[in-house]
Amino acid sequence: MSLKCNFHTHTTFCDGRSTPEEVVISAIEKGFWAIGFSGHMYTPFDESYCMSKEGTAEYIKEIRRLRNVYGDRIKIFLGIEADYCSDEDISPYDYTIGSVHYVLKNGEYIPVDETAEIQIDAVNRLYNGDFLAFAEDYFACVSNVNGEIVGHLDLISKFNEDGSIFDETAPRYVSAAENAIIKLISRDMIFEINTGAMSRGYRKTPYPSEKLLRIIREKGGKIMINSDAHKASNIDFAFDEALALAKRCGFTEIYVFDGAFKKINI
Ligand SMILES: [Zn+2]
Ligand SMILES: [Zn+2]
Repeated sequence: MSLKCNFHTHTTFCDGRSTPEEVVISAIEKGFWAIGFSGHMYTPFDESYCMSKEGTAEYIKEIRRLRNVYGDRIKIFLGIEADYCSDEDISPYDYTIGSVHYVLKNGEYIPVDETAEIQIDAVNRLYNGDFLAFAEDYFACVSNVNGEIVGHLDLISKFNEDGSIFDETAPRYVSAAENAIIKLISRDMIFEINTGAMSRGYRKTPYPSEKLLRIIREKGGKIMINSDAHKASNIDFAFDEALALAKRCGFTEIYVFDGAFKKINI
């Protein structure tokens, strides 16, 4: 087993640009031993990015078909990325990535990762501009996500790489994140180093920030490396950098999914 694998992959069934078959072919060409799909689970209040109910059934069928066609060349896994606010059955899936894409405040679903403008406007209106209060609510949701993998732990920092929106070193921010990390580790969840925002040009570094990754390491958390790919060519985007980051933070093991979660030494 090697790191030539990715378990966070979107396709045309949700907001990705490549079909599952294009992704599988790309994975085989790159010498991957496994590829895992993780379509966005249906969320009733925002259907713009997720799989429809009917589309979900088609997605499951298509991944199973690809497993039959390409299964002698690569392991193909059927996963799902469940938003904190989605409530669909997870039993058809090999694994679940639990992610927070919205914070519900005063009856309004605030999208965490849509645009900086939407984020700032919502925090001004609903939190009197207190970004750290927004972060506290966000991390409280993160600590309760579904599944075995925590998706992009600090997605809330998507537009804040230069620190211009809020202070990620503020004690309130760090302790909100740390509390979530402790709770997720107690649930034996695996944190992903997620390079998705890098491939789409939003960030130069992956989620989580190095500071939070070091806390995960310090507390004994488990990690994996995922690209959150939205097109076939990006399934291993910046994996070398992610691996170097993991090593720099002191990790000696990375988890992969091979029917069950297994660790490999790095
Ligand atoms: Zn996500
Ligand atoms: Zn995703």
